[in-house]
Amino acid sequence: MQPKDMTKNEAFKGFTNEACPFLPCHQGVKREFNCLFCYCPLIAYECPGPYEVYTDKNGLTRKDCSACKLPHDGYLQSWNFIQKWLEYPVVWKGEKQTDPPTRRPRPPGAPEDEDED
Ligand code: SF4
Repeated sequence: MQPKDMTKNEAFKGFTNEACPFLPCHQGVKREFNCLFCYCPLIAYECPGPYEVYTDKNGLTRKDCSACKLPHDGYLQSWNFIQKWLEYPVVWKGEKQTDPPTRRPRPPGAPEDEDED
């Protein structure tokens, strides 16, 4: 059992850095603005966010996540979103987001999610 399983205090799941000069750095967030995932843990993995693809000055293909609210919109909602997608992370192949967006990767043989977001 991990410490987070033994507490009802969920403060570790999010916070808003009101002192940050860039807040709000992503437009359209309706719930509490979660700054915990300022550097999104999914940046190197497949994700469902509305990222754009660009090539940086070193010639690397990267995501521009300016339009994505998923790791920021609500403390609990964004925490749950990140945990869910990190259950089975798959390295991003450097391709554009699809339409509809990428579905959450599942281990071989695992049932499809019914509550996919
Ligand atoms: S598009 Fe959104 S979910 Fe995907 S890596 Fe960027 S910030 Fe994270």
